Amino acid sequence: MTCLQTSCVPVTRRWTGVTRRRADRVTARRDNTHAPGDDRDRVRDASDIVDVVGEHLSLRQKGREYLGVCPFHDDHKPSMYVVPDKQIFHCFSCGAGGDVFTFIQKYHSMDFVEALKFLAERAGIELTPRKRAPGGEGAGGEPGGEGEVSRGELAEACAFADGFFRAILRHPEHGAPARAVAERRGLTGEIAERFGIGAAPDRWDGLLMAIEKKGLPRRPFIAAGLLKQREGGDGCYDALRNRLIFPIRDQLGRAIAFGGRRINDEEEPKYLNSPESALFNKSATLYGLDLAARNFTKQKDRKRLIVVEGYTDAIACHRGGFDTAVATLGTALTAQHARVLRRYPDVSVILLFDGDEAGRRAADRAVEVFFAEPIDVRVATMTVAGGAKDPDELLAQADGRARFEAVLENAEEVLAWRFAQFREELSSRGVNGRAVLVERYLQRLSELGLGTLDPIRRKFVLEQLATITGLSWTDLTRLSPAGRKPKQRAEARLAEERALAAGSSTEPKPTSRRQTPAGGVVGALMAFPSLSGSLTPADVRVLGEAEAGATLAQVREVVLGLIDAGTPPELGRVLPGLEATSAQSSATSAARAVERAAEGDASRARAFFADCLRRLHADAAARARAEGEPADPLERLAELRAGGVSGGGGAGANGGAGVVRRAAYPRVADDGSR
Ligand SMILES: [Zn+2]
Repeated sequence: MTCLQTSCVPVTRRWTGVTRRRADRVTARRDNTHAPGDDRDRVRDASDIVDVVGEHLSLRQKGREYLGVCPFHDDHKPSMYVVPDKQIFHCFSCGAGGDVFTFIQKYHSMDFVEALKFLAERAGIELTPRKRAPGGEGAGGEPGGEGEVSRGELAEACAFADGFFRAILRHPEHGAPARAVAERRGLTGEIAERFGIGAAPDRWDGLLMAIEKKGLPRRPFIAAGLLKQREGGDGCYDALRNRLIFPIRDQLGRAIAFGGRRINDEEEPKYLNSPESALFNKSATLYGLDLAARNFTKQKDRKRLIVVEGYTDAIACHRGGFDTAVATLGTALTAQHARVLRRYPDVSVILLFDGDEAGRRAADRAVEVFFAEPIDVRVATMTVAGGAKDPDELLAQADGRARFEAVLENAEEVLAWRFAQFREELSSRGVNGRAVLVERYLQRLSELGLGTLDPIRRKFVLEQLATITGLSWTDLTRLSPAGRKPKQRAEARLAEERALAAGSSTEPKPTSRRQTPAGGVVGALMAFPSLSGSLTPADVRVLGEAEAGATLAQVREVVLGLIDAGTPPELGRVLPGLEATSAQSSATSAARAVERAAEGDASRARAFFADCLRRLHADAAARARAEGEPADPLERLAELRAGGVSGGGGAGANGGAGVVRRAAYPRVADDGSR
């Protein structure tokens, strides 16, 4: 080994101004954003990452880790690992990673404090009340008066309105008309409670007065579309008046928007929804998903999610015992919906459409949305329901439940359904017309991602087409333009990681192309914290000065801060010191890459670590040569005039290149053992 490794200077606080200040900054940042560290620890200890992630997506155990489909990038294959003994998650495809807080922050687009509250509530932990420093800077201070309305403020406004609408429905006088409508439609008792049904009073200032009485700011209510500003004036009025209210909830069951159904038949429109806001994205929201997701985890064998067209249909399904129904909100199914549904890969999705022409077109669109998705999607139509036009009507009948079950049973796999349609279209054409139709259809399928389907599904599609069209399978393969670019990257990375992990000699394999020596060293320190004991002051200096991307630089700062404070820089300790989820992901990726390469073998990790350090020193030396060691500007000028700058280093000497320049080693050794 080199003298770098043998000269093991223990890491202590004694070096240094630079890292000392670094440690201070790290501590300060942590106190600032993550407030009571105590709360953070208590909540983390009570939130096992496998449980928490498992509540959001399906995980499969694989050895000592768990594997699931990553919700943070478009993919069909499981690429996200959850590691119980380290309490982290990491996607080897998109690089997302971190601890349980990172996951919640990213998944629900929350800031750290929101995520802390969310997990505390889940674990039944009461948080220390936070003191708000008046005029306090940094992430801790909540905006008061002007400026943009935060997601938190929107959520509070919606929660307040939710409570108000429910109270009105119970009100003897103001709730009476809405109660009558609710009763007619069977929206009473337990089912009304489950869906949180409420009422908006028949006046312009019902909600407004409640807001004023509480002394709440109006801005969040305006931003949430609950209050409207009078044109030209400075007053406000209720956006929802004299309507039966259906709160629209996110997956956590928090109200994020409201739908209002008219009480008077003369009023238009029949349904009125909240506008979109920072909380509410109509094209990604499925009404009832909070309830359905809870319910289908209870289903043992065949988990199914029923997607219907309106929220009253969804409620009717739940009332009829089909409590895994959700509804789109007045939009067709979108790719964003598909993305939400992809979180449940073991769930079979049944799209239920009316049997009419509009329903058929909606189903057609759905097929396009789901064509390349890895989800089991089936299409059911009400045509087999014997005259009933929607689930509400059908389930109200005496044998409605059994017949509805039959409708669901008759659901056809989405491709098979589409092929049946296609067969019909073909049968009405002549030979030439058929050829054109087949070609056009193949074109469309390849636009939808035929080329990127997994081979089994792709084969299925082509076989089906061969049967329908009478063309040979090879003809079809030739005809179908196979564009298979998008997912290749992920697979290339996977292969890269596998290759990394497969190395069996103690000779360190080169790190992946993307990992710089600095990333390797930082990653190794987090994965095998005891390595920090072998760092020399010179190592720390070159590490601190090495080129690194913005996020890796943040990670490095925290790592060096911990080392300087005499704390082993293990990943679990580094993550809380990082503010941005991107930096947390970067830290996790760096640590995992080393872990995989070393396969738990400490001697391999050491060899890898030493190699990265050598490269760091080599790069530093090359840089120094290129710059001409003495950094004094006058001397440098003189040197330039004399033309004495060595040409060897130059542009190639950045830290990113994965090539180890062995020629530089002796120089580094001199440097390191100084
Ligand atoms: Zn991912």
